[in-house]
Amino acid sequence: MKSVPKIFLKSIVLLLSLCILTGCSRQPVSYSATDIGMGTVISQTLYTTGEDETANIIALIRKLEEDELSRRISGSEVAGLNVSAPGVPVKLSEELWEELLLLQEVSLQSGGAFDITLGSLIVLWNIDGQALTDNGEIHIPTEEEIAGALERSGYEKILLQDGCITLKDGVQLDLGAAGKGIACDRIGDYLKETDVSGAVISVGGSIVTYGKKPDGSPWQVGIVNPEDTSRLLGTLSLAGEWYISTSGDYERYIEVDGIRYHHILDPASGYPAESGLRSVTVVCNSGILSDALSTACFVLGWEEGMKLAARFGAETVFVDREGNIHLSEGMKDIFKQAEE
Ligand code: FAD
Ligand code: MG
Repeated sequence: MKSVPKIFLKSIVLLLSLCILTGCSRQPVSYSATDIGMGTVISQTLYTTGEDETANIIALIRKLEEDELSRRISGSEVAGLNVSAPGVPVKLSEELWEELLLLQEVSLQSGGAFDITLGSLIVLWNIDGQALTDNGEIHIPTEEEIAGALERSGYEKILLQDGCITLKDGVQLDLGAAGKGIACDRIGDYLKETDVSGAVISVGGSIVTYGKKPDGSPWQVGIVNPEDTSRLLGTLSLAGEWYISTSGDYERYIEVDGIRYHHILDPASGYPAESGLRSVTVVCNSGILSDALSTACFVLGWEEGMKLAARFGAETVFVDREGNIHLSEGMKDIFKQAEE
């Protein structure tokens, strides 16, 4: 047998030591964190060969909330628009301009089922605050109050032109139906600049999956069973970067005299949407779209909702009031129902 040349052996030793020095043999380390932001729970699991990025991601979400999206924080861009003079164009940040263009498209395509101008109606219902008045009493809005709030709503009362927005008729913006999806988009962009090799991060009902698990298997994302929120309806099996949002009548609601008033409002009636659904989950390649579409689909019902989502290349899982599950065609390869 021929002996291996010395120079060849030396190169192998050199390569191995280089690998150790440069860290090419390092395995990703996993980090997890749970925090509160955007009025909801944020959960992170990420795998990285670099530093722990969880605190940076929380900071990113809080900055987005405080600087741009929250209508509740007076310094934010959206809060500023809500106190701007009606009918006067206001210059938007580049990000908000792009986002509002897309959201207006969802409004248009959904026939107004999705509408970011429902701020007055949302404040009137105050479902987030359990519909409590300042006196601590539960107040269900009267028909007159609802009609008044609807006069100050309507996506056609927004004009987007030359990077500016004009709000007409005292319209108040509320991005509650898309903000967490926007946060997921920003997280996806941020992760690409880091050493993170895989992550699954949820901002309330919106989730981003990114990269790979260390063992290379797909991410498993659970969907809550709306009949019993302590159980799973099923799981989504997803490889790589995906955006998932769920809207349901069990998320935020009040019950008065046996009637459930939930937080997803039908802009046509001014009342909580009654489309025969308990929940909708949307999967697509954009967080803002998955979030906006989940709300739009909930208002439209499963048949119209599925068509709308398909126009945006999104896959859907609908659960109706009878407990039936309706899956879009592509979802059949992704969704696995939990065993009873
Ligand atoms: P989604 O279906 O995605 O959205 C429903 C929400 O969108 C409603 O709550 C309402 O705000 C709005 N909406 C209702 N009907 C429609 C419709 N037809 N079209 C468009 N929009 C509609 N909650 C708090 O309690 N305290 C906070 O401080 C707080 N801060 C927030 C800050 C930001 C930046 C964001 C984005 C949200 C904040 N929220 C806060 C709200 C909360 O986190 C969720 O947005 C809310 O619970 C609904 O989210 P969802 O995903 O369950 O439902
Ligand atoms: Mg939504």
